[in-house]
Amino acid sequence: MQSELGTLYVVATPIGNLQDITFRAIEILRQVDQVVAEDTRHTRILLKHFSIQKPISALHDFNEHQQLRKVIHALQQGKSIALVSDAGTPLISDPGFPLLREAIACGIKVIPIPGVCAAIAALSVAGLPTDQFVFEGFLPAKQEARRQRLQLLSSETRTIVFYEAPHRFISAMQTMVDVFGGKRMACVARELTKIHESIISDHLQSLFTYFQSHPAKQRGEFVIIVAGVQLDNQSDSASSKQVLNILLSELPLKQAVKLASKITGERKNVLYEAALNLSLK
Ligand code: SAM
Repeated sequence: MQSELGTLYVVATPIGNLQDITFRAIEILRQVDQVVAEDTRHTRILLKHFSIQKPISALHDFNEHQQLRKVIHALQQGKSIALVSDAGTPLISDPGFPLLREAIACGIKVIPIPGVCAAIAALSVAGLPTDQFVFEGFLPAKQEARRQRLQLLSSETRTIVFYEAPHRFISAMQTMVDVFGGKRMACVARELTKIHESIISDHLQSLFTYFQSHPAKQRGEFVIIVAGVQLDNQSDSASSKQVLNILLSELPLKQAVKLASKITGERKNVLYEAALNLSLK
């Protein structure tokens, strides 16, 4: 019965420059019975550009669960379907996960048609280690939750990749400077593959100062890549925490933090946070 089932193709599309679509993606989009898209208007423009006419239905975060049943039914009837998002690789900070999971559970064949992904494009030119990296996608929208997320990442040694919306970009950069420290190396890849593409690698503080003083450059799409903490920095912070620990056993918290900061040069807010964690244990 398996052979009667259709195939779900997960097709990557460009993130700006339409020439970044692959030959195979065009071929598959021409072949399939139906295209399932995050935004039908957006995908219609893409298909029109390549003279492809196909029925397109919408699958986005707000209708994903209802639409899923229809798509699975069509696949079970032997139809072939291409899943695309507005830009880049579907499911990478884009809709499609419940559909894919269900398709796999139903024994439907799923085939990736690889292509552009903003995170990978940015990583390939950031000038930061790529042997190990973590993809964090979008940080939480609320300031406090964002800070907490970054704090959890402050001892991450692998390169960290973030997506960020333009209206939150500058405040995210500010929080990264606060939490990771201004000396951490980073890269801001803006408007990749588009006319105003820019890729700047520098210390977090310099990047923040630059973008803060150029409001026009705060518009567009951003990938922010931050170097992982260096192992020698980690041992610095380990020793500053050891000093803090010793002082905490003899002194009130505020005084211990102040002295530990003077002795080790570590920022007071980092030590204060560490002191709170230690006193909770
Ligand atoms: N699925 C996409 C991919 O494969 O990269 C990502 C979709 S996610 C909804 C959109 C985010 O990706 C943007 O907010 C931005 O962080 C990043 N992005 C997408 N296109 C970009 C571009 N041309 N330049 C820089 N970042 C981009």
